[in-house]
Amino acid sequence: MILIMFGAPGVGKGSQARFLSEALQIPHISTGDLFRENVANRTELGKLVKIHMDNGSLVPDEMTIGLIMDRIRQADCKQGFILDGFPRTISQVEHLEKSLKAEMRAIDTVVNITLDDAKIIDRVTGRRICPSCNSVYHLAYHKPYSVGRCNNCTTDLVQRVDDTESTVLRRLQVYYAQTEPVLSYLRDRYAVVDVVSEDDINDTTRKIYSSLDLAVHGASNKDARYMRLPSGCA
Ligand SMILES: [Zn+2]
Repeated sequence: MILIMFGAPGVGKGSQARFLSEALQIPHISTGDLFRENVANRTELGKLVKIHMDNGSLVPDEMTIGLIMDRIRQADCKQGFILDGFPRTISQVEHLEKSLKAEMRAIDTVVNITLDDAKIIDRVTGRRICPSCNSVYHLAYHKPYSVGRCNNCTTDLVQRVDDTESTVLRRLQVYYAQTEPVLSYLRDRYAVVDVVSEDDINDTTRKIYSSLDLAVHGASNKDARYMRLPSGCA
């Protein structure tokens, strides 16, 4: 299954992509995570990416496309994958379509998560992440079991440098100007599932699962993670 997670920065698509990745047993490919990896490792690409991430502008197409095309050609993507943060331009969609077509594959579904701007700002500025395993938390809506510590690996949580209000506003502007046309393009060609993001992250997960016709067992993500999928899903 090839899924695209769509939505403005801060709607929670990264968290949802992670849950889906575990449920469907296919890799979650996040341009944000790939970029941050390159920045942390101080690669040549990372140095260029850092300039764009710090001021909230989009990383140039050719850099992003090269990175993603290399990633989806890897063996673990044979059964499918979930894209998060890509495609963000028409040129990116076209490269993706061409690459998939060459392998007789195509995008299956686009999950479009929506939320009001004011709520997005609240979400992003309250977001805390685990620098070790990339788990995402929120000071009000998705608290870790123990304050300031990751549930999975107990690492101290941090706030991303680009999760400030001014950067979020700029990212939203960029999103509406450059990314929404991509959604229209996708709507014309693929199945698009629209889901309004809920305050309770589990409610959003349930809505996405039922939209994707997946079986949901239990009320928490922990249960959902181990749910059995109907055959033919992955
Ligand atoms: Zn962690």
